[in-house]
Amino acid sequence: MESTVAQKLEALLNLQKIDSRLDAIFKVRGALPEEVQDLEDEIAGYETRLEKFNTDLQSLEDDIKTYKENIKESEKLIKKYQEQQMNVRNNREYDAITKELELQDLEIQVAKKKIGEAQARIESKNSDVEALKETLNERQKDLDTKKGELETIISESENEESKLKADRDKATKKIEERLLKSYSKIRDNAKNGLAVVMVKRGACGGCFNIVPPQRQADIREKKKLIVCEHCGRVFAGVEDEIEEEPVKKKRSSRS
Ligand SMILES: [Zn+2]
Repeated sequence: MESTVAQKLEALLNLQKIDSRLDAIFKVRGALPEEVQDLEDEIAGYETRLEKFNTDLQSLEDDIKTYKENIKESEKLIKKYQEQQMNVRNNREYDAITKELELQDLEIQVAKKKIGEAQARIESKNSDVEALKETLNERQKDLDTKKGELETIISESENEESKLKADRDKATKKIEERLLKSYSKIRDNAKNGLAVVMVKRGACGGCFNIVPPQRQADIREKKKLIVCEHCGRVFAGVEDEIEEEPVKKKRSSRS
């Protein structure tokens, strides 16, 4: 069913009220949701790095184990060659075994050097791990604090938020898609999130530029959708100025 311009404007204004209230709720939360997300990402990054460090450490330990086994193997061979050397039949055999002994001795020296290098790397990695864990702890504390703050703020407004979101679903169903798209577009471009405004005191309620009387009359008629020629916001109507009695100030009683 086709709705009249007046109905469309009413639906738009209703949606605007809901969205403005939601904006206010999110404004109270401020940058906290983003800060919590950033910290969570940062912590996840540190945890990945920590895992990598631990894998590296494990592989260095494995290397050391292998080098130590190699040394034992060489020592066994040396013992065997030394026994053989006792029973050589000629100089040629003796020299050959001496060469083997020298070779194994060299193997042991190389392995010991590599063990030393691996241990130095383990030491430096361990201090990296310690520093990383410290950073991780600090960030975790920051995250816990911020999460706590955010949860408190959210708990104060979550009931209202879910009610408003349900209201919003209902409200958007009453507005045709094309109009809803324009509404979203205007809202995205508006700093104060206002896409639908009233004329207040002869001026646009969004950008505060003067709306000429004839245009105000057209807006009052609600025969067609009229937008502000300065900011493009939709005019939902003209707010009647209510003559208010100036509130009398309480005379401060002298003591
Ligand atoms: Zn305007």
